[in-house]
Amino acid sequence: MHDDIQEILYSEEAIQSKVKELGEKITRDYKDKNPLCICVLKGAAPFMADLVRQIDTYLEMDFMAVSSYGASTESSGVVRIIKDLDTPVENRHVLVIEDIIDSGLTLNYLLDLLQGRNVASTKVVTLLDKPSRRTTGMKPDYSGFEVPDAFVVGYGMDYMEKYRNLPYIGVLKKAIYTDQV
Ligand code: 5GP
Ligand code: MG
Ligand code: MG
Repeated sequence: MHDDIQEILYSEEAIQSKVKELGEKITRDYKDKNPLCICVLKGAAPFMADLVRQIDTYLEMDFMAVSSYGASTESSGVVRIIKDLDTPVENRHVLVIEDIIDSGLTLNYLLDLLQGRNVASTKVVTLLDKPSRRTTGMKPDYSGFEVPDAFVVGYGMDYMEKYRNLPYIGVLKKAIYTDQV
């Protein structure tokens, strides 16, 4: 285990079996819909890469980057588009792929934006859900694990751009982020 990690919450194996389960559900729901899977960069990239390989139907992939955090561990509520989609979304069945839903502010903003572009439908799949911190009515359509109120990293998720490459998801030691702020 990495020195900066206090505790592993989900092992590589636990993540992969959850991703397979989610992929099977999504396959059933999206047969013949050719969904546009939208990865919210950068955190959801490893999850998307694994998830699409467990979805057995035609689908397309696109990427969007938004910022809501800066370098802090708390959502600012201000969402800015850093990179928009390449694909027109009108009349598409859109599946937004997220790493974790915390306050829900980022996704709220994204879904409003997509609905304003006349999509056929929007659904959200998140690997992790932290409902105790929700300040919006956001509810994912598919969710992997419900996490306690702790700052987690790994499997795409970062602190100051580090730890995205850890194959597991763990709780970051408090000393790592309280020293630096
Ligand atoms: P929200 O807008 O729902 O508060 O937060 C959305 C984004 O903040 C997530 O998609 C994720 O990128 C980041 N985030 C929220 N909670 C955590 C966490 O515990 N760890 C990490 N590394 N990122 C988080
Ligand atoms: Mg994210
Ligand atoms: Mg981040």
